[in-house]
Amino acid sequence: MNVDPEVQLRLLDVQKLDLKLDQLAHRRATLPEVAEVQSIAAEHTRLGDALVVAQTTVGDLEREQKRADADVEQVRTRKARDQKRLDSGQVSSPKELESLQREVESLNRRQSELEDAELEIMERLEQAQGEVDALTAQRQTTEQRVREVQQNRDAKWAEIDQEAEEARAQRAELAGQLPDELLALYEKIRASSGGIGAAALRRRMCEGCQMQLDPAEVKRIASFAPEVVIRHDECRRILVRVPDSGL
Ligand SMILES: [Zn+2]
Repeated sequence: MNVDPEVQLRLLDVQKLDLKLDQLAHRRATLPEVAEVQSIAAEHTRLGDALVVAQTTVGDLEREQKRADADVEQVRTRKARDQKRLDSGQVSSPKELESLQREVESLNRRQSELEDAELEIMERLEQAQGEVDALTAQRQTTEQRVREVQQNRDAKWAEIDQEAEEARAQRAELAGQLPDELLALYEKIRASSGGIGAAALRRRMCEGCQMQLDPAEVKRIASFAPEVVIRHDECRRILVRVPDSGL
């Protein structure tokens, strides 16, 4: 392929801009804010899961408390009924009287046990409710924090995008001056060679792979007319001759 040496030099400018665009894309993806947003979002999700668990516990305990309430109420009612009978003076049989008194005593103990259990449920409920409140507050904090970090990230992204947009415009203009065939070859090599498709031959060194050319290759390259597009034998990249190529 033959390309005017001046045009070949433009390929190095395109390469420079492509590397710049690669670096900008890398910087965009690896901003600390990007990882931070992800980690806070993960924390937010974790808190959300914990909140659901805590809310379920609260719901369970509320039902338990209602049941305990009903149990206590039932014992109270029964005790009141027994007491009423005792107070009415209608129970004449000593045996029945004793049985009723024993039942009232038993109901007293039962009530006391149930009330203790209810108290314990209420304590657990209070604790669980406290956890729900704490998790809700923490979630609000992470929500706020994620918004702040997202804003920082977006501001940095906007700067990078602006810079990339300018580089892309420059690149498009330069690429427009290159023959399609040369550009296609460059793109193909670039895709398979770590982002570098064309490099300057400077002081007998390929700047693409940083290898010094052996004298035989220097001789071979020197034998080509300036417009011949050459490639480094070693790395297969397009080698562009510059004023200090050392040929
Ligand atoms: Zn090379």
